[in-house]
Amino acid sequence: MAIVVQKYGGSSVGTIGKIKNVARRVAKRREAGDQVVVVVSAMGKTTNMLVGMAKEISENPPTREMDMLMSTGEQISISLLSIALKELGFDSISMTGFQAGILTGGRHTNARITDIEISNVKEELDKGKIVVVAGFQGVNEKGNITTLGRGGSDTTAVALAAKLSCNCEIYTDVEGIYTVDPRLYAEAKKLEAISYEEMMEMASLGAGVMQTRSVEIGQKFGVPIYVALSTEERPGTYIKEHDASMEEKVITGLSVSDDDIMITINGIPYSTKVVSVLFEKLAERDVNIDMISQTAPHDGFINISFTADKGDLNSIREVISDFENENGGVRSEIDEEITKLSVVGNGMRTHSGVAAKMFKILAENEIEFKQVTTSEIRISYTINPKDKIKAVHAIAKVFDL
Ligand code: ASP
Ligand code: MG
Repeated sequence: MAIVVQKYGGSSVGTIGKIKNVARRVAKRREAGDQVVVVVSAMGKTTNMLVGMAKEISENPPTREMDMLMSTGEQISISLLSIALKELGFDSISMTGFQAGILTGGRHTNARITDIEISNVKEELDKGKIVVVAGFQGVNEKGNITTLGRGGSDTTAVALAAKLSCNCEIYTDVEGIYTVDPRLYAEAKKLEAISYEEMMEMASLGAGVMQTRSVEIGQKFGVPIYVALSTEERPGTYIKEHDASMEEKVITGLSVSDDDIMITINGIPYSTKVVSVLFEKLAERDVNIDMISQTAPHDGFINISFTADKGDLNSIREVISDFENENGGVRSEIDEEITKLSVVGNGMRTHSGVAAKMFKILAENEIEFKQVTTSEIRISYTINPKDKIKAVHAIAKVFDL
């Protein structure tokens, strides 16, 4: 008898009918002999609705109260699912993050799991119960309820699987991980497997299926993750350590994001100190920087471009305006209209010529790029959003995605 953690996302528990359906699936698994821990998200768009209510009262609601508020969404779905399981004749118990022993540190609304005091969950499993845990929430050292950042139920599920040394199954409204977002490229293929590392690049670049941090935890603790459809039995995608069974293609996927902005700062004095102060200030405000590129020094000055999340626009504006005031002659520009395209593939470690191919594709299709950066397994470009579909189709065809 194995333990398994299954997670069902908001759209999979969006209605009472869907909750009953999830209960049937969980019950089937229990009947097959496995001990099951189920993690659920809030029903449908509940979390958005809760955030909206707070925003009607305050532009900037206190984050502790936001956690108190947002955590209620998951309490609705765990209790309803547990009721549905009992109705099917299965013994089950729902648990909040606190009851499941999920300890967190860090900031409210974006806390991190520091440890899981797993004994409560284990005890209930040993009694033969199905344990239904609220995703997305935990408790901090002060005993306050915290949440793990939007999409955080994935992280709850993988962290529980890590603690229980078992597999984690993520059931959602897509069949698995695709080479390209099928909404942008209908011929995209579903991947049988993808490595943790590739998935992290894909997820942080806008593949959007799982919270990136959950994949990070999966890699750290070697938790095999399976992503599949919640409504039907169809083969999904395994996320695991890279191994020989994974298809040996140079490029595994193309990820596309419209959620970034690009900041260009010209006329920065050529000094590591000055640059380090700029990025330190951004880090202090938790601005997550993705691409960074810098020109070679010219007459004692450099230009730097970087991309960051659209949500950080206000923080970035403040930092940059201070930076301009402190360094006369610095001029900056924020480009809110960009699309970020990234080709990701473990095969890039051993194959050369991917960058050359990419430049050729863009040139042949008359697509101008604004910035390009590379890492061991990824090449990213920012382009004008008007060229997005053309670029996606051309790249996908050449790399057979
Ligand atoms: N309900 C939370 C959210 O909407 C957590 C999750 O869905 O994973 O972000
Ligand atoms: Mg999600």
